[in-house]
Amino acid sequence: MKRTDFLNALGNASPICLSNHNKIITLNNIESLNGTHELHYIPNLGGKKADEITQFKTFFIDLDSGKDKNGDYFPLSKVSEYKEQKQKQLEKFPIYPSAVIETRNGLQVYWFIGEPISRENWQRIENALIAYFNADIKVKSPANQMRLPDTFWVKDKNNPFYCKIISLHKRSYSEKDFDFLDIEKISSIKLNPEKFKKILTSKTFYNYQDLFDHITKEVDLFQYLRDFYDLEAQNINSFKCIAHNDNNPSASVFKSKDGIWLYSCRATSCDFKIGNIIQVVQHLSKLPRHLAIQKICSDLGLEFTEDAEQKRILEDNLKVIKDDIKYSHPKLYSVIYRYIPTLTVLHYLAMDNLVYANNEDEFLFTGSTRYLARMLGRHDKKRTGEDLSFLSLAKMLKKVDIESDTVPGRYRDMVMRLKRENERYINTYSIPAYTLEHLRKCEDFANVIIEKGIRKIEFCYATVANAFGSELADEIFPQAKNTVCKDLDMNLYNVVENLIAQKSYVTEKIIREYYKEHHMHWPEKTFICQMPIIITKLGLIKIRTNKKLKEQYGIISSGYPNIFIKKETALAN
Ligand SMILES: [Zn+2]
Repeated sequence: MKRTDFLNALGNASPICLSNHNKIITLNNIESLNGTHELHYIPNLGGKKADEITQFKTFFIDLDSGKDKNGDYFPLSKVSEYKEQKQKQLEKFPIYPSAVIETRNGLQVYWFIGEPISRENWQRIENALIAYFNADIKVKSPANQMRLPDTFWVKDKNNPFYCKIISLHKRSYSEKDFDFLDIEKISSIKLNPEKFKKILTSKTFYNYQDLFDHITKEVDLFQYLRDFYDLEAQNINSFKCIAHNDNNPSASVFKSKDGIWLYSCRATSCDFKIGNIIQVVQHLSKLPRHLAIQKICSDLGLEFTEDAEQKRILEDNLKVIKDDIKYSHPKLYSVIYRYIPTLTVLHYLAMDNLVYANNEDEFLFTGSTRYLARMLGRHDKKRTGEDLSFLSLAKMLKKVDIESDTVPGRYRDMVMRLKRENERYINTYSIPAYTLEHLRKCEDFANVIIEKGIRKIEFCYATVANAFGSELADEIFPQAKNTVCKDLDMNLYNVVENLIAQKSYVTEKIIREYYKEHHMHWPEKTFICQMPIIITKLGLIKIRTNKKLKEQYGIISSGYPNIFIKKETALAN
C-alpha cells in the first residue's frame, strides 16, 4: 500500500501539503524533507482554512494515546496496547474504515465520502464519530491537517517513527451509511477538552455476564454521565435530567438492592423512566443495545472478547446433532434423540455463559436446571435434570464437580456466590466438541447402554453405580458424590422396610418424621443417593398419588405427594 494509492482512493491525488511552521510544499518536495521535517496534508479540497473547503472527501478521526502526567509521550509498548484496543473497536464498528494510518501515538482513521455532502452534515457526522470513538476533539475542522502517510514522525529526533498505511479498503460511504449513529444525539454531546480522557489501562472481559456486572455495578453511573455526557450536576439525589429538557431537578442516580446503579427520572414528560447504564446510553445516544455496550467499553477503556472459537464449536455441535448423526451413529441417536431439545437449550446456555478455565483447557459454564426447564417450556425442573444426567452418561456433556482441583479458584468462588445469592440448584458443565473421534466413542458406549437396558426412566445414581461403578456415577451425579454408597445404610433400610410393613406406603416426609421422633440424625446425602438402591432392594416404586390412591392409603395431607409402594401393589392397581 503506497501513498499514491491512498491519495487516489481518497479522491485527492495532489492535496495541499505542509511542512514545519505550516509552510506549503509540493508533493515533489516530500522525499527530500522526509525524516527531518513533520509532513502533513489537507484531505478535503478547497483551501487551507475551514471555510475555504468546498469538497468533503472524507471523515477522519485522530485516535491519539496522548501524553503522561509529566507531558511525555507514552512508551511504544504502552501505545501498542492502546492501538490494539482501538483496532478492536474499529473492527466491531458497523462501518468499516476506508483507511487506517498508524502514527507514533495512535491511529488516524478515515471514512471516504463518495457523494457530495453539505458542510453542516459533514460536521455533524464528524463530531458524532469523534464522540463515539472518544477521539481527539481538536481534530474536527474540515481543513484539518493530517499526517501524510509514508513519512516519519520526527518530534523526537532520536527516535523517528515511520507512519504507514496499515489498511486501505478504497470503500467510500454516503451520509445514509451513518444513520445508525443517532447523529443529533451523539454530536450534541458536549466535546469538552477537560473531560476528554484517554484511558490506557484497559480491562478485558471474556464473558458477557462479568462485563455486565462490572459496568452496571462497579462503574459509578453518576460519574460516568458527568465524564461522557452532558451532566454537570453535583447532587446525585436530585439533578436536572439529561434525557429531557428539565427545568426543575427531577432525576436521580441510586443503587438497587442487588447493587446495580440506576438512573431515574420522575418527570411525567420524560421518555426515560428508569434504567441501568446500558439503557441510559441506549436512550441518550439512540444506539441499539450491543452498540451501547461497545460505546461504554470504549469510553472506559474496557475490552470485551467473547470466545468466538468455542461458540463456533458449539454451533457445529448443534448441526452435528440435527443433521449428521441419525445415519452415521444410529445407536447414539436412538439413545439421545428424545433429549435433543434439552441438549440444544444447554448449548444456547453455554453460548451465553462461557468462561475459559485456563488451567484445564476446558470451557466451563454454569446454569440452573430450573432455567433450562423454563426455556423448554416445562414447569418442573426434575425431568430436565434427568435428561441432563442421561445425556451426561451418553457423553454429550460433562458435569463438572465445582470442588475439583481442575476448576480455577476464581471460577469456583463465582459459582459459590451464585449458589448463595440466587439459586441452589445450579450445575457447572462443559461440552466437548462432537468430533468424529468423540462420536465414535459415544456410539460404542451407546451400544453398552442399550445392552444393559438402561433407560432414562428411573435413571439414578444407583443405576449407574450398579452398571458401571461408582466412579462414573460420581461424575454423572456430582451432588451425590462423596456420600457413602458402597455400604448400604442398614439403619435407613430398616426404617423404610418397617414403615412400609406398617402402612403399606411411605413418603420422604414420613421417613424424616420418624427420624425426628426417634432423635436420630437425618442422613440427607445418604438418603438422596441410597434411596434408589433401597427402592430396588425392597421392590418398591415411587409414584405420584391421585385422589383414588390417597383414599386407598388414607393419606390426608393436602396436595398429591409422591409415595413409595410395593411394585406388585402398584401393578395390581
Ligand atoms: Zn427526564
